[in-house]
Amino acid sequence: MKPGDVHRHFEMSWPEFEAFTKETNFAILPVGAIEQHGPHLPMGTDVIIGEYLTERLAQATGALLLQSLAYTPSFSLRLYPGTVRVSDETFSNELVEIAESLHQHGIVTIYVFVSHLGAVSACKTAERKLLLTSEVRIVNLIIPGYNEALDKYCQSKRWHSTFAHAEEFETSAVLAIRPGLVDMSKAVREYPEHDPLFGPTSIAWNEFCKSGVIGDATVATAETGRAILDHIFEKSLELIRLHQESLQA
Ligand SMILES: [Zn+2]
Repeated sequence: MKPGDVHRHFEMSWPEFEAFTKETNFAILPVGAIEQHGPHLPMGTDVIIGEYLTERLAQATGALLLQSLAYTPSFSLRLYPGTVRVSDETFSNELVEIAESLHQHGIVTIYVFVSHLGAVSACKTAERKLLLTSEVRIVNLIIPGYNEALDKYCQSKRWHSTFAHAEEFETSAVLAIRPGLVDMSKAVREYPEHDPLFGPTSIAWNEFCKSGVIGDATVATAETGRAILDHIFEKSLELIRLHQESLQA
């Protein structure tokens, strides 16, 4: 299929799907979350970021764009009002079954774009299970280039080397994509004290973080958001192309 169009699974009729998969055997699946993102951002922030980037990736590669998954594992944030959590086991099973089902219809590779770090472990489990039991493959794109983009474009310091939540990056990203959903008058800066048992134990975030923001949301701009999103897009595209080339080798 030619790059340029976006081929959305849920918009296709079955004959369109059948014709499409005669030419294209790979798909992109956004995995986000509906979980608290501070007092100023929508709970669907990870979905907004994932859908935006995967639409661009589907357009650039001609892949089938699958419906995004929003109710996913969100263990650490589960006690904040509004956050929905499913178990890792349920979610990895769902991914495996979605992949097997699409495989029956001609899809052989699914690029899972994970914009929500809480889902990473379930996505890895699904990838490994399929590796042992099936011919369909999941390739997990865990916001590629994220750390280097944050180092390069964010002006605020990070609270944690892995996690960034509802702070400058995520706020900037939503300002770039859906500015009407951000209330900057409620944006805050919070750097909780580091508990040495954070990591070794799964401490619920509401026990140490009052606002739900970890870092500084007040300095976010749409411009920063665009720069970081472009960087993540380029890195993700590079990985998809590399993987597609490896299949042809
Ligand atoms: Zn998020």
